[in-house]
Amino acid sequence: MESQHDAPHAEGVETTVRRWQDLDAAHYLHPFTDHKALRKSGVRVLERAEGAYTFDVDGARVLDGLSGIGCVNLGYGRTELADAAAAAMRKLSYAQSFFNTTNQPAIELAEQLVELTPPNLNHVFFQSSGSEANETAVRAVLRYWELVGQPEKRMIIARENAYHGSTMLTASLSGIPPMHHAGGPLPLEGIHHIRAPYHYLHDPDAHPDVFGLAAAGWLEDKITELGAHNVAAFFAEPLQGAGGAIIPPDSYWGEIQRICSTHDVLLVVDEVVTGFGRTGAWFGVDTYKIAAPDIMVLAKGLTSGYAPLSATMIGDRVTDVLVDEGGEWFHGFTHSGHPVCCAVALKNIEILRDEQVIERAAAETMPLFAERAAALGDHDLVGDVRTQGFVAGMQLVHDKLQRTFFPEGHDVGEVCSAEALQRGVALRAIQTTMVLMPPLIVTREQIDTMFDVTEASLDAVAQQLSSNGGKP
Ligand code: PMP
Repeated sequence: MESQHDAPHAEGVETTVRRWQDLDAAHYLHPFTDHKALRKSGVRVLERAEGAYTFDVDGARVLDGLSGIGCVNLGYGRTELADAAAAAMRKLSYAQSFFNTTNQPAIELAEQLVELTPPNLNHVFFQSSGSEANETAVRAVLRYWELVGQPEKRMIIARENAYHGSTMLTASLSGIPPMHHAGGPLPLEGIHHIRAPYHYLHDPDAHPDVFGLAAAGWLEDKITELGAHNVAAFFAEPLQGAGGAIIPPDSYWGEIQRICSTHDVLLVVDEVVTGFGRTGAWFGVDTYKIAAPDIMVLAKGLTSGYAPLSATMIGDRVTDVLVDEGGEWFHGFTHSGHPVCCAVALKNIEILRDEQVIERAAAETMPLFAERAAALGDHDLVGDVRTQGFVAGMQLVHDKLQRTFFPEGHDVGEVCSAEALQRGVALRAIQTTMVLMPPLIVTREQIDTMFDVTEASLDAVAQQLSSNGGKP
């Protein structure tokens, strides 16, 4: 039977696009979307993707400066990953890991992840998303303190502008106020936030290293305020991607580790975005010299987005107690250790390794990316540029000299990303920071295109602002 979505041959491209858009509007609720606004602007309908490019159903080619949403590290369309998935699916299409059962791809992947991550991380729990992986981390932390006889150690500290997921618990951990307006009691009790190491926002005149130590000190202040005997863990991303490319000064992470160990607070590092090359090393813990996180959370780049999979690496301190003292752990998911997803991750890691994708990007293309991003700092609209590896944030400002931000809700960022999209580049506005995080395989020419377009889009926005008295 012919599907109702199959386009008749004679149908024009515009009609085809419109039909998909209408069907989408009729039935599909998207994540983090104002659907009324979307219906007006018209949704993009993707059809296929190759390398660093996506193609819409009308054939429009877009250079993906966002790696999907920070996940397509290897770029789109690698047939080896498709073949690995097909082979795994033919052999063992599903396996549960609950009842005395395991599967080869999951075991092999666990071994590889242990090899790649810091020496104290020797065990892994699998799920499908970053949110679930952080849920697992919270549950492991709370169970640990209960088992070692300190059940009052239940509070968790996270940071403003953090993104840890969109379940009730992980939205609570996230430091994004609109996510807490969910019609429920968010953030959940016991979750506290400190300010992020957001130099330009909090103290741009301070020397970065001085600011980094001060920002880490906010953690110590909060632990003291709550009482160390009540604090279970500190959750943090090595750098904050979804919060607007907030990159900590070099002095920050050393001090954070000292504070966690002094106050016996477990350190949970959320590497959902930073894992698998984004920062220019395999993991953010390598870039920021985080020696022995108690838990490390991986997703996105683990499969380069080809299959949904996340991994919570649990360190020896916690695992030993969970295993020796815990009995059955009443936690898990139907798709924990899914053989097809694990096979895709194994192939992804093999390619990253064999082709030295991360090392080559760090040596050959990331320096140009940093250089081109820094040059945008001269633009009248850009107050601050922050880069690390293949993450760049260009902070748009209303008044560069006075360092005033555009008011909350101002759509300057969205207008800028719409301008870029029209010119064939996907970049994203996080409030008023323009963020780029391209696949690790982008070429030097593609980096030049990305920044040429970003600059042209900024010019277009500046022009609109000046002719509309401050409104684009
Ligand atoms: N942690 C971080 C750092 C993230 O950026 C994200 C997603 N952007 C998540 C967790 C949540 O991952 P997911 O959307 O797969 O649940």
